[in-house]
Amino acid sequence: MDSSLKKFFYPKSITLLGASSKEGSIGYEILKSIKSFQFTGKIFVINPNANKILGTQCYSSLDEVNESIDLAIILLPRKFVLQGLQDCARKEIKNVIIITAGFKEVGGEGAELEKELIRIAKENQIRLIGPNCMGVINTEALIRLNATFAAELPKYSQIALLSQSGALAAAVLNTISQTGFSFGQFISVGNKADVNENDLLEYWAINPNVDVIAMYLESFENGKKFFETTKNISSKKPVIVLKAARSEAGTKAAISHTGALASSDKIVEVVLNECGAIRVETVEEMFETASTFQKIPIPRGNRVAVLTNAGGPAILLVDQLEKNNLRLSSLSDKTIKRLKEILLAESSFGNPIDMLPGATAEIYKTASEILLEDENVDSLFVIFVKPVMIDSFDVLSSIAVVQKKSVKPVLISAFPLPKFWDKWKEIGNEDAVIYKSLELPPKILRHLCGRKPRIEKLTKSVKYEQKLSLNEKSYLQKKLTAKGIIPQKDVQAICKKLKLPIAQSLLVKNFQEAKKKISSLKFPVVLKVESLDVIHKSDIGGVIINIKNLKELRSAFNQIIQNLNKNKISEKNVHYIIQEFVEGGTEVIIGGFRDPSFGPVIMFGAGGKLVELIKDDNFTLAPVTKSKAIDLIRQSKIYPLLKGYRGETKVDINNIAETMVICSNLINDFPQIKEFDINPLIVKAGKGKSKIVDMRIIAEQ
Ligand code: ADP
Ligand code: MG
Repeated sequence: MDSSLKKFFYPKSITLLGASSKEGSIGYEILKSIKSFQFTGKIFVINPNANKILGTQCYSSLDEVNESIDLAIILLPRKFVLQGLQDCARKEIKNVIIITAGFKEVGGEGAELEKELIRIAKENQIRLIGPNCMGVINTEALIRLNATFAAELPKYSQIALLSQSGALAAAVLNTISQTGFSFGQFISVGNKADVNENDLLEYWAINPNVDVIAMYLESFENGKKFFETTKNISSKKPVIVLKAARSEAGTKAAISHTGALASSDKIVEVVLNECGAIRVETVEEMFETASTFQKIPIPRGNRVAVLTNAGGPAILLVDQLEKNNLRLSSLSDKTIKRLKEILLAESSFGNPIDMLPGATAEIYKTASEILLEDENVDSLFVIFVKPVMIDSFDVLSSIAVVQKKSVKPVLISAFPLPKFWDKWKEIGNEDAVIYKSLELPPKILRHLCGRKPRIEKLTKSVKYEQKLSLNEKSYLQKKLTAKGIIPQKDVQAICKKLKLPIAQSLLVKNFQEAKKKISSLKFPVVLKVESLDVIHKSDIGGVIINIKNLKELRSAFNQIIQNLNKNKISEKNVHYIIQEFVEGGTEVIIGGFRDPSFGPVIMFGAGGKLVELIKDDNFTLAPVTKSKAIDLIRQSKIYPLLKGYRGETKVDINNIAETMVICSNLINDFPQIKEFDINPLIVKAGKGKSKIVDMRIIAEQ
């Protein structure tokens, strides 16, 4: 394993710059943690004002140390940090963690100092973690490094954990003794001046002691890289992500509908899903999911058998299973017959199987085994609520044995008396996975179930058909030079070049010009105002449809001019579009948007005037293949209608998908496009042709 990050986790020697003899200070507490966890390597403490701290001899400067050092941890006051890093550079230390805060996160001088740190690190090929972080832990027996100020230490497991927030990490570490969370490697990345989540993902991907990666993130340092890296890793090791800021509002100042609907969290959701990461909502879910992945096999499918000794909890559990797209197995006759042989006649033999409170350890075990042998059962869910006459320890020990042996997942939710858990921990039943709730385990089972299809999807190679040709590209390049809203005449030209099905249109200055040119269009037509001052034309009465003759066209012009006056819009810069009238059909939207961290995305949903009300916003990363476009259409709320709702004729969704492919290439290939939407594309049933009647492209300003 060759990685510049290795020595953060596997140092043979470390130095502490800024260790302090003042009890309660970070510089003291970290040294205490390192010592009390019995770090297996050498420790060099640098402090010019102390002789010994916590029994360890101090050096007055790094230069005094004659041996080479793998890792430096800097805890100095901010004003000395730069000097500290320079000392490390002189000593040829290549891995440095800066715990000290007061850098980029405070702006101003702090931000400048951080830039300096980055420069020095780059110049000296130093990998830097932090500043403003909480440190590093490796619980492996050969290392035993705890360079954090957390008082409690987790048990070892093959989980690697990253936290962007030091405080959240501290909160987790402080409750280890109650939660029992375990992990092997932990790092808090703080300001990510150098090392970020992408570097760590790559490192953990090749570290054989890491099976599962869990991350708490507040921001993505380089979204595209995160996507690619996670996509490569997540078919081999589960990557679990707790991403904060779920409730963030939609993108500010978006002109298009798509931009308005694309909240950054929505895009994060899409990205995490497409790169195969598992998104969780709470710290508890993150840890429980991580440890479940370590210990419990992945199910073949989503059919669940529920075994219980209490009715109420089973009903609640079934609700939760449904919410998580899990199904109850229909048990085979043979299974039911076998269960009847061992259970009381009054038990329920449907699924859930309620064995009633009398069920003993032996009965739990045998019934579990019978259910696991049923072909229709992909996983087994066992609920145990302590009855007076039954010993919790016996029951849970026997189910734990079944869980350990089974090739199918066995999930256990148990409600013994509180004092039970101390005894359970004492005996050291670490391998068993037992949950203390009914709400969380169905979510975890959903994550387990999602794993196999995700891996299949990730390992399927995707070929991008239908790219834009060079000729198309150079033509478009010339049309996409404006900043802000691209003029309609250019939009129309782009559509024609790309063979996008834009409705026939004429662009005119006034009725007189319209009268001269109208012969190229057939009545009925639609008249629309076209002005950079009007974003939503129909909002100001700027769209009049189904105009049957010249007379009606003249009055439509007058009407729109009146509406413009009413809305105090000057007629000076106004043009008009006369467009073929597309009768009937269903209005859909195809949109595109450039996410600042993840790049171009594409949207599909129900279109027309109500688009922001209905919020049928389905996103995927661009460019898309036709089959991905079809998947997106199938996800939409409007899909049942397109499929032929209540006996109506079906729409050819292939056509829509082809338009989406072209549009996704458009936004992918032209970085100057910030957002666009086609709203609506009017799609026709049967052999009818779909038409774009309104398209807007917005370029970066
Ligand atoms: P805007 O979105 O700026 O209000 P649109 O051009 O999208 O303007 O027109 C608004 C609505 O008018 C469309 O959603 C559609 O219902 C109808 N409409 C516009 N153009 C046509 C057309 N050529 N044929 C049929 N209906 C149209
Ligand atoms: Mg529109």
